[in-house]
Amino acid sequence: MFQRIGFADADSGLEEAEYVVVGLPFDGTASFRSGSRDGPDAIRLASFNFESYDFQYGVDLSDLKICDLGNMELGADPAYAEETIKEGIALLPEKAVPIFLGGEHSITPAIVEGLGQRAGALGVLVLDAHLDLREEYGCTRASHACASRRILEKDVLAGYASLGIRSGSREEFVWAEENGISYFTARQVRVEGIDAVLDRAMEKLQCERLYLSIDLDVLDPAYAPAVGNPEPFGLSSWDVKRVIERLAPRLVGLDINELTPAYDRGETALLAARLARDFIAARAKHKIL
Ligand code: MN
Ligand code: MN
Repeated sequence: MFQRIGFADADSGLEEAEYVVVGLPFDGTASFRSGSRDGPDAIRLASFNFESYDFQYGVDLSDLKICDLGNMELGADPAYAEETIKEGIALLPEKAVPIFLGGEHSITPAIVEGLGQRAGALGVLVLDAHLDLREEYGCTRASHACASRRILEKDVLAGYASLGIRSGSREEFVWAEENGISYFTARQVRVEGIDAVLDRAMEKLQCERLYLSIDLDVLDPAYAPAVGNPEPFGLSSWDVKRVIERLAPRLVGLDINELTPAYDRGETALLAARLARDFIAARAKHKIL
């Protein structure tokens, strides 16, 4: 009679879970639009729009063992949030693939470190409109605008590339050049197609264990208007779906971040929920085959 609103079809307990959904409602460093702390619950609510059966993959999500752990209590202090995320990840069962719902992009460096400490070095592919390579922003090194820079400092990092780029300061582009950072632009995706660009990104990554971080602003605002820092001329929803389809079988986890529900008429949350469900279905199909 009473329903707790977790992610749709996430009816499994933690012990037997193959997939675990974790909300990270932190938006303490938001620089333009705030409110991504409400992102995880908006994605959960939107997830009920969809059939449990995924027609493309022939997988019924209600047959899978999915656990929604709810949201971590992260407060407003970035240092506290980072420690809490790492501690929380250490408690997750090793066989469950985590799906982290943000929250702003500043959650990702802590996730990468937490997953790396748990099971070894990993490569990271970031989908983002922005380089996020600032040394600091708004008087803090923990800003969402520094997410990739902080990821690159992690000892557990085995490879890095970003894709969908179309914004950054002059200093960030110079720093990327000087340090040989691999990034692929939204224009390259437009001209060459997502498959060709993803092939090149994977060549740069060259690592067994791969983590995917999706800053929703990688999508064009026509598809995902409700994000912290919208940037026109982005990827299509089909492009991001394709990245997930190709990478799902080998990912050790992913996050979907920067949804700001107050600016949404529902379409951004729906797309975020759909992408999370696509990941689960694509991976499950691979396991069945
Ligand atoms: Mn970002
Ligand atoms: Mn971004």
